[in-house]
Amino acid sequence: MGWIVEDAIRALVVRFGRYRAWDWPAFLERAGMRIVWADVMPWGVPAGISGRVIVVQRGYSHYDTALAVWHEIGHAVLHIGSVADWLAMTCGDLIIAKQERQATEFAWCYPDWGCQEGLIDH
Ligand SMILES: [Zn+2]
Repeated sequence: MGWIVEDAIRALVVRFGRYRAWDWPAFLERAGMRIVWADVMPWGVPAGISGRVIVVQRGYSHYDTALAVWHEIGHAVLHIGSVADWLAMTCGDLIIAKQERQATEFAWCYPDWGCQEGLIDH
């Protein structure tokens, strides 16, 4: 795990504790965030985030929804600015690619998926 994601997770564990992957609604409530469902997502992405609102494509499986929500929470925890801002910068596409990897790493490592005992120290 990269040190940026690891540091963010350690800080989040101190502040919020850990959540099971399926308990994302409880995390969102505690964090003052909410989810809305969309029939069609722009650019073909499965989910997105704007401020404290996560948008997820309707019809996703229980598992895919949880992964998408934790990925977006990862963006909220790790990243500032907008995709448009980053893409306007030189090599912005590389920055976006790194942020996507970090958000996915967060989604796998912060919540307890029931198969990662010992992945991070408590
Ligand atoms: Zn993302």
